[in-house]
Amino acid sequence: MQGGERYFSISNYFKQTFGEKTIKLSLDAGFTCPNRDGTLGTGGCAFCSSSGSGEFASSISEQIELLSEKWPNARHIAYFQNHTNTYAPVSVLRKYYYDALSDPRIDGIAIATRPDCLGEDVLDLLEEINREHFLWVELGLQTIHPKTSEAMGIGYSLDTFHEAITELHRRGIRTVVHVILGLPGESRQDMFDTVSYVARLHPFGIKLHMLNIVRGSRLYDTMPDYVPFRSIEEYCELVVDLLEIIPEDITVHRLTADTQRGLLVAPEWSYRKRTILNRINLRLKERDTRQGAKCGVHNQ
Ligand code: SF4
Repeated sequence: MQGGERYFSISNYFKQTFGEKTIKLSLDAGFTCPNRDGTLGTGGCAFCSSSGSGEFASSISEQIELLSEKWPNARHIAYFQNHTNTYAPVSVLRKYYYDALSDPRIDGIAIATRPDCLGEDVLDLLEEINREHFLWVELGLQTIHPKTSEAMGIGYSLDTFHEAITELHRRGIRTVVHVILGLPGESRQDMFDTVSYVARLHPFGIKLHMLNIVRGSRLYDTMPDYVPFRSIEEYCELVVDLLEIIPEDITVHRLTADTQRGLLVAPEWSYRKRTILNRINLRLKERDTRQGAKCGVHNQ
Protein backbone atom coordinates (compact mmCIF):
# COMPACT_ATOMS: atom_id res chain seq x y z
CA MET A 1 0.00 0.00 0.00
CA GLN A 2 1.14 3.54 -0.72
CA GLY A 3 0.93 6.73 1.35
CA GLY A 4 -2.53 7.26 2.77
CA GLU A 5 -4.09 4.23 1.09
CA ARG A 6 -5.78 1.84 3.40
CA TYR A 7 -6.21 -1.08 1.06
CA PHE A 8 -4.10 -2.40 -1.80
CA SER A 9 -6.25 -1.72 -4.87
CA ILE A 10 -5.42 -3.37 -8.17
CA SER A 11 -5.10 0.10 -9.73
CA ASN A 12 -2.24 0.86 -7.33
CA TYR A 13 -0.64 -2.47 -8.08
CA PHE A 14 -0.85 -1.63 -11.80
CA LYS A 15 0.74 1.76 -11.25
CA GLN A 16 3.59 0.16 -9.32
CA THR A 17 4.03 -2.60 -11.88
CA PHE A 18 3.43 -0.87 -15.23
CA GLY A 19 4.14 2.73 -14.22
CA GLU A 20 0.92 4.01 -15.83
CA LYS A 21 -2.77 3.79 -15.39
CA THR A 22 -3.80 0.33 -16.58
CA ILE A 23 -7.25 -0.47 -17.88
CA LYS A 24 -8.92 -3.85 -18.13
CA LEU A 25 -10.71 -4.35 -21.44
CA SER A 26 -13.63 -6.74 -21.00
CA LEU A 27 -13.82 -9.23 -23.84
CA ASP A 28 -16.55 -11.64 -24.84
CA ALA A 29 -14.88 -14.44 -26.79
CA GLY A 30 -18.23 -16.20 -27.24
CA PHE A 31 -17.59 -18.99 -24.75
CA THR A 32 -20.49 -20.55 -22.90
CA CYS A 33 -20.61 -22.21 -19.49
CA PRO A 34 -21.20 -25.82 -18.41
CA ASN A 35 -23.81 -24.50 -16.01
CA ARG A 36 -25.76 -23.11 -18.96
CA ASP A 37 -25.16 -25.36 -21.94
CA GLY A 38 -26.69 -28.46 -20.31
CA THR A 39 -23.44 -30.18 -19.29
CA LEU A 40 -24.13 -29.40 -15.62
CA GLY A 41 -27.35 -27.46 -15.96
CA THR A 42 -29.20 -24.96 -18.10
CA GLY A 43 -30.28 -22.28 -15.65
CA GLY A 44 -26.84 -21.06 -14.60
CA CYS A 45 -25.89 -19.98 -11.09
CA ALA A 46 -28.94 -18.43 -9.44
CA PHE A 47 -27.38 -14.94 -9.37
CA CYS A 48 -26.14 -14.97 -12.99
CA SER A 49 -27.99 -13.04 -15.66
CA SER A 50 -28.55 -14.87 -18.93
CA SER A 51 -25.73 -12.96 -20.62
CA GLY A 52 -23.13 -14.27 -18.16
CA SER A 53 -21.21 -12.41 -15.50
CA GLY A 54 -19.93 -9.59 -17.74
CA GLU A 55 -22.30 -7.37 -19.62
CA PHE A 56 -20.11 -4.84 -21.37
CA ALA A 57 -17.92 -6.57 -23.89
CA SER A 58 -16.75 -5.11 -27.22
CA SER A 59 -13.49 -5.51 -29.18
CA ILE A 60 -10.02 -4.46 -28.00
CA SER A 61 -9.68 -1.78 -30.68
CA GLU A 62 -13.14 -0.32 -30.08
CA GLN A 63 -12.50 -0.04 -26.37
CA ILE A 64 -9.02 1.44 -26.71
CA GLU A 65 -10.32 3.97 -29.20
CA LEU A 66 -13.04 5.06 -26.79
CA LEU A 67 -10.61 5.35 -23.89
CA SER A 68 -7.64 6.87 -25.66
CA GLU A 69 -8.81 10.46 -25.49
CA LYS A 70 -9.02 10.37 -21.70
CA TRP A 71 -6.09 7.99 -21.13
CA PRO A 72 -3.68 8.33 -24.07
CA ASN A 73 -0.82 6.59 -22.21
CA ALA A 74 -2.81 3.86 -20.53
CA ARG A 75 -1.64 0.26 -20.52
CA HIS A 76 -4.19 -2.48 -21.12
CA ILE A 77 -5.07 -5.92 -19.81
CA ALA A 78 -7.35 -8.03 -22.01
CA TYR A 79 -9.94 -9.44 -19.64
CA PHE A 80 -11.75 -12.57 -20.81
CA GLN A 81 -14.77 -11.99 -18.64
CA ASN A 82 -17.98 -13.35 -20.07
CA HIS A 83 -19.09 -16.85 -19.06
CA THR A 84 -16.37 -19.52 -18.64
CA ASN A 85 -13.24 -18.52 -20.51
CA THR A 86 -11.41 -21.84 -20.38
CA TYR A 87 -14.44 -23.82 -21.58
CA ALA A 88 -13.37 -24.74 -25.12
CA PRO A 89 -10.80 -27.04 -26.76
CA VAL A 90 -7.30 -25.94 -25.85
CA SER A 91 -6.49 -25.12 -29.51
CA VAL A 92 -9.34 -22.60 -29.51
CA LEU A 93 -8.24 -21.12 -26.19
CA ARG A 94 -4.67 -20.83 -27.44
CA LYS A 95 -5.82 -18.85 -30.47
CA TYR A 96 -7.94 -16.42 -28.45
CA TYR A 97 -5.34 -15.80 -25.75
CA TYR A 98 -2.42 -15.36 -28.16
CA ASP A 99 -4.50 -13.19 -30.52
CA ALA A 100 -5.06 -10.78 -27.64
CA LEU A 101 -1.42 -10.94 -26.54
CA SER A 102 -0.17 -10.31 -30.07
CA ASP A 103 -1.71 -6.81 -29.97
CA PRO A 104 1.17 -4.49 -29.00
CA ARG A 105 -1.24 -2.37 -26.93
CA ILE A 106 -1.98 -5.33 -24.63
CA ASP A 107 0.26 -5.86 -21.60
CA GLY A 108 -1.28 -9.05 -20.27
CA ILE A 109 -4.44 -11.09 -19.96
CA ALA A 110 -6.88 -11.96 -17.21
CA ILE A 111 -9.07 -15.04 -17.57
CA ALA A 112 -12.26 -15.59 -15.59
CA THR A 113 -13.31 -19.19 -15.27
CA ARG A 114 -14.75 -21.98 -13.15
CA PRO A 115 -12.42 -24.28 -11.17
CA ASP A 116 -13.98 -27.34 -12.80
CA CYS A 117 -12.91 -26.14 -16.26
CA LEU A 118 -9.16 -26.35 -15.78
CA GLY A 119 -8.00 -29.62 -17.31
CA GLU A 120 -4.34 -30.59 -17.50
CA ASP A 121 -3.99 -29.29 -21.10
CA VAL A 122 -5.53 -25.94 -20.16
CA LEU A 123 -3.27 -25.64 -17.12
CA ASP A 124 -0.25 -26.40 -19.33
CA LEU A 125 -1.28 -23.62 -21.72
CA LEU A 126 -1.77 -21.16 -18.87
CA GLU A 127 1.60 -22.08 -17.42
CA GLU A 128 3.21 -21.55 -20.82
CA ILE A 129 1.60 -18.11 -21.20
CA ASN A 130 2.50 -17.17 -17.65
CA ARG A 131 6.20 -17.76 -18.36
CA GLU A 132 6.26 -14.96 -20.98
CA HIS A 133 3.32 -12.71 -20.19
CA PHE A 134 1.45 -11.06 -17.38
CA LEU A 135 -1.48 -13.32 -16.48
CA TRP A 136 -3.99 -13.95 -13.78
CA VAL A 137 -6.78 -16.49 -13.58
CA GLU A 138 -9.95 -15.48 -11.83
CA LEU A 139 -11.96 -18.15 -10.05
CA GLY A 140 -15.47 -17.84 -8.69
CA LEU A 141 -15.69 -19.16 -5.16
CA GLN A 142 -18.58 -17.02 -3.87
CA THR A 143 -18.92 -19.02 -0.62
CA ILE A 144 -17.27 -21.91 1.17
CA HIS A 145 -20.60 -23.11 2.55
CA PRO A 146 -22.00 -26.15 0.70
CA LYS A 147 -25.59 -25.34 1.65
CA THR A 148 -25.41 -21.92 -0.01
CA SER A 149 -23.42 -23.20 -2.96
CA GLU A 150 -26.03 -25.90 -3.60
CA ALA A 151 -28.92 -23.46 -3.21
CA MET A 152 -27.25 -21.16 -5.75
CA GLY A 153 -26.65 -24.08 -8.14
CA ILE A 154 -22.98 -23.24 -8.58
CA GLY A 155 -22.22 -26.83 -9.52
CA TYR A 156 -18.74 -27.44 -8.07
CA SER A 157 -17.56 -28.27 -4.59
CA LEU A 158 -15.14 -26.50 -2.32
CA ASP A 159 -12.77 -29.44 -2.83
CA THR A 160 -12.79 -28.79 -6.59
CA PHE A 161 -12.10 -25.11 -6.02
CA HIS A 162 -9.33 -25.93 -3.55
CA GLU A 163 -7.62 -28.38 -5.88
CA ALA A 164 -7.77 -25.92 -8.81
CA ILE A 165 -6.32 -22.97 -6.93
CA THR A 166 -3.66 -25.11 -5.30
CA GLU A 167 -2.58 -26.36 -8.73
CA LEU A 168 -2.55 -22.85 -10.22
CA HIS A 169 -0.39 -21.67 -7.31
CA ARG A 170 1.90 -24.68 -7.68
CA ARG A 171 2.44 -23.64 -11.30
CA GLY A 172 3.23 -20.08 -10.25
CA ILE A 173 0.08 -18.59 -11.82
CA ARG A 174 -1.55 -15.56 -10.18
CA THR A 175 -5.12 -16.11 -9.04
CA VAL A 176 -7.97 -13.79 -8.15
CA VAL A 177 -10.84 -15.14 -6.04
CA HIS A 178 -14.38 -13.86 -6.36
CA VAL A 179 -16.59 -13.79 -3.24
CA ILE A 180 -20.23 -12.67 -3.09
CA LEU A 181 -21.48 -11.11 0.14
CA GLY A 182 -25.11 -11.32 1.22
CA LEU A 183 -26.06 -14.63 -0.35
CA PRO A 184 -29.45 -15.84 0.95
CA GLY A 185 -29.20 -17.63 4.30
CA GLU A 186 -25.64 -16.54 5.05
CA SER A 187 -24.78 -14.91 8.37
CA ARG A 188 -22.04 -12.39 8.97
CA GLN A 189 -19.97 -15.23 10.45
CA ASP A 190 -20.48 -17.32 7.30
CA MET A 191 -19.06 -14.46 5.19
CA PHE A 192 -16.14 -14.05 7.58
CA ASP A 193 -15.40 -17.76 7.32
CA THR A 194 -15.34 -17.55 3.51
CA VAL A 195 -13.02 -14.54 3.44
CA SER A 196 -10.75 -16.09 6.13
CA TYR A 197 -10.43 -19.17 3.97
CA VAL A 198 -9.45 -17.04 0.96
CA ALA A 199 -6.96 -15.06 3.09
CA ARG A 200 -5.26 -18.32 4.11
CA LEU A 201 -4.93 -19.37 0.46
CA HIS A 202 -3.15 -16.09 -0.19
CA PRO A 203 -4.16 -15.50 -3.82
CA PHE A 204 -2.80 -12.61 -5.85
CA GLY A 205 -6.14 -10.83 -5.59
CA ILE A 206 -9.65 -10.85 -4.21
CA LYS A 207 -12.97 -9.48 -5.44
CA LEU A 208 -15.71 -8.78 -2.92
CA HIS A 209 -19.15 -7.54 -3.78
CA MET A 210 -22.68 -7.60 -2.53
CA LEU A 211 -25.13 -9.94 -4.16
CA ASN A 212 -27.09 -8.15 -6.84
CA ILE A 213 -30.51 -9.37 -7.88
CA VAL A 214 -30.51 -8.88 -11.62
CA ARG A 215 -33.18 -9.31 -14.27
CA GLY A 216 -32.77 -12.55 -16.17
CA SER A 217 -31.38 -14.46 -13.16
CA ARG A 218 -33.06 -17.33 -11.33
CA LEU A 219 -32.90 -15.33 -8.09
CA TYR A 220 -34.97 -12.62 -9.74
CA ASP A 221 -37.61 -15.23 -10.56
CA THR A 222 -37.56 -17.02 -7.22
CA MET A 223 -36.69 -14.30 -4.67
CA PRO A 224 -37.56 -11.00 -6.35
CA ASP A 225 -38.02 -9.25 -2.97
CA TYR A 226 -34.78 -10.42 -1.38
CA VAL A 227 -32.57 -7.50 -0.36
CA PRO A 228 -29.04 -8.57 0.61
CA PHE A 229 -28.18 -5.48 2.68
CA ARG A 230 -30.51 -2.89 4.16
CA SER A 231 -28.24 0.09 3.49
CA ILE A 232 -24.95 1.26 2.04
CA GLU A 233 -23.76 1.85 5.61
CA GLU A 234 -24.43 -1.74 6.66
CA TYR A 235 -22.63 -3.10 3.61
CA CYS A 236 -19.62 -0.80 3.96
CA GLU A 237 -19.18 -1.63 7.65
CA LEU A 238 -18.99 -5.31 6.75
CA VAL A 239 -16.47 -4.64 3.96
CA VAL A 240 -14.20 -2.71 6.35
CA ASP A 241 -14.39 -5.58 8.86
CA LEU A 242 -13.46 -8.04 6.10
CA LEU A 243 -10.60 -5.91 4.75
CA GLU A 244 -9.03 -6.12 8.20
CA ILE A 245 -8.61 -9.88 7.89
CA ILE A 246 -7.20 -9.84 4.33
CA PRO A 247 -3.38 -9.76 4.23
CA GLU A 248 -2.22 -6.38 3.00
CA ASP A 249 -0.26 -7.73 0.03
CA ILE A 250 -3.36 -9.29 -1.57
CA THR A 251 -4.62 -6.97 -4.31
CA VAL A 252 -8.22 -5.82 -4.01
CA HIS A 253 -9.94 -5.90 -7.40
CA ARG A 254 -13.43 -4.96 -6.40
CA LEU A 255 -15.43 -3.92 -3.35
CA THR A 256 -18.73 -3.21 -5.10
CA ALA A 257 -20.77 -4.87 -7.79
CA ASP A 258 -20.68 -3.73 -11.38
CA THR A 259 -24.13 -4.37 -12.78
CA GLN A 260 -25.75 -2.39 -15.56
CA ARG A 261 -28.40 -0.20 -14.01
CA GLY A 262 -31.07 -1.47 -16.38
CA LEU A 263 -30.54 -5.04 -15.11
CA LEU A 264 -30.28 -4.20 -11.41
CA VAL A 265 -33.23 -4.91 -9.12
CA ALA A 266 -31.71 -4.98 -5.62
CA PRO A 267 -30.06 -3.49 -3.70
CA GLU A 268 -31.32 -0.49 -5.65
CA TRP A 269 -28.34 1.58 -4.41
CA SER A 270 -25.79 -0.90 -5.69
CA TYR A 271 -25.08 1.10 -8.87
CA ARG A 272 -23.73 4.00 -6.75
CA LYS A 273 -20.18 2.72 -6.90
CA ARG A 274 -18.46 6.01 -6.12
CA THR A 275 -20.66 6.58 -3.04
CA ILE A 276 -19.97 3.07 -1.77
CA LEU A 277 -16.20 3.34 -2.28
CA ASN A 278 -16.11 6.78 -0.67
CA ARG A 279 -17.99 5.43 2.32
CA ILE A 280 -15.59 2.47 2.68
CA ASN A 281 -12.60 4.83 2.55
CA LEU A 282 -14.23 7.17 5.06
CA ARG A 283 -14.97 4.36 7.51
CA LEU A 284 -11.43 2.98 7.17
CA LYS A 285 -10.16 6.42 8.10
CA GLU A 286 -12.65 7.06 10.90
CA ARG A 287 -11.92 3.67 12.42
CA ASP A 288 -8.19 4.23 11.86
CA THR A 289 -7.85 0.80 10.37
CA ARG A 290 -6.62 -0.76 7.13
CA GLN A 291 -6.43 -3.94 5.08
CA GLY A 292 -4.65 -6.61 7.09
CA ALA A 293 -4.98 -4.80 10.42
CA LYS A 294 -6.29 -7.94 12.08
CA CYS A 295 -4.45 -10.68 10.28
CA GLY A 296 -1.07 -10.29 11.92
CA VAL A 297 0.84 -9.99 8.60
CA HIS A 298 2.51 -6.68 7.88
CA ASN A 299 4.66 -6.36 4.79
CA GLN A 300 6.75 -3.28 4.24
S1 SF4 B 1 -21.90 -17.09 -12.87
FE1 SF4 B 1 -20.30 -17.92 -14.20
S2 SF4 B 1 -20.30 -20.13 -13.71
FE2 SF4 B 1 -22.27 -19.34 -13.00
S3 SF4 B 1 -23.70 -19.63 -14.73
FE3 SF4 B 1 -22.87 -17.53 -14.89
S4 SF4 B 1 -21.13 -17.75 -16.28
FE4 SF4 B 1 -21.61 -19.83 -15.52
